[in-house]
Amino acid sequence: MSGRRPRADRMVALLEKRYGVRRTPGWLETPLDVAVHAIVATGAPPAVGDRGYQALQREFVDWNEMRVATWREIGDALDRAHVPDPGARAVALKRALQQIFTRLNRVSLDNVAGMELREAHAYLAGFSDLPTHAAGAILYGRLRGAGIFPSHGVVRVSERTGLVRRGLTPGRAAESLEAQLPRRLHPRTHQLFGIVSEEFCLPKEPRCPQCPLGGTCETGVRTIAEQKKAEAAAAAKAKASAPAKAPSSVKAPKKGQSPAAAKARPARRPAPARKR
Ligand code: SF4
Repeated sequence: MSGRRPRADRMVALLEKRYGVRRTPGWLETPLDVAVHAIVATGAPPAVGDRGYQALQREFVDWNEMRVATWREIGDALDRAHVPDPGARAVALKRALQQIFTRLNRVSLDNVAGMELREAHAYLAGFSDLPTHAAGAILYGRLRGAGIFPSHGVVRVSERTGLVRRGLTPGRAAESLEAQLPRRLHPRTHQLFGIVSEEFCLPKEPRCPQCPLGGTCETGVRTIAEQKKAEAAAAAKAKASAPAKAPSSVKAPKKGQSPAAAKARPARRPAPARKR
């Protein structure tokens, strides 16, 4: 036995290092509280995430008041709590709350609490502006789900990394990923792969050079190598088509000398007379 960790395990460890392992605090009251906390806290140290969430609670009467606030007001509240990337988090919060309100005519996800797990997963997946890791926090942290839910983003990352064969149904793909990981890693794998799918592994144009999995993912390694090759070819082409350098024999005119005179070849000195 080589003692090396399996590939899926190593990828999860890499992402944990980048985003941290975040447990859903028990003091959050509703499913929507859990989702808001996940958006605020992901990627930040636990104390910072909690502080950001509590700052929002203080500054807004409820989540509906936050929904109608501008993203700048939300971002400023997070900034004052020293939460990193306050603007991006504010936009994500506002979009998620707005979509929930548009669909349900209320700002609440309390109905999820009474659903069976798979039903809750399908229901939350219908909110495209609710980040996968926030939905995962509700499913795992609130509803005590187990296994890996077959979210589109999670399946996309699993396929592109080469962990799961392409063309399987989402359910089979999730099962295949589950089989490669210890059970205790299933919830955080869903959430971490969800973050990668939203930040880097976009459906049309994956951002492999920036992705934390870029060095280990099958697609990432290939894409980065192809990009480097294309850049090198473009640089070589640009160099070949650059105008040739002016000959070094062209001298700058001396003080008081016209450029034409500087360019003119110096007159040959007469050869010294030969001694007889
Ligand atoms: S390296 Fe590229 S293809 Fe692989 S997970 Fe990251 S973004 Fe997706």
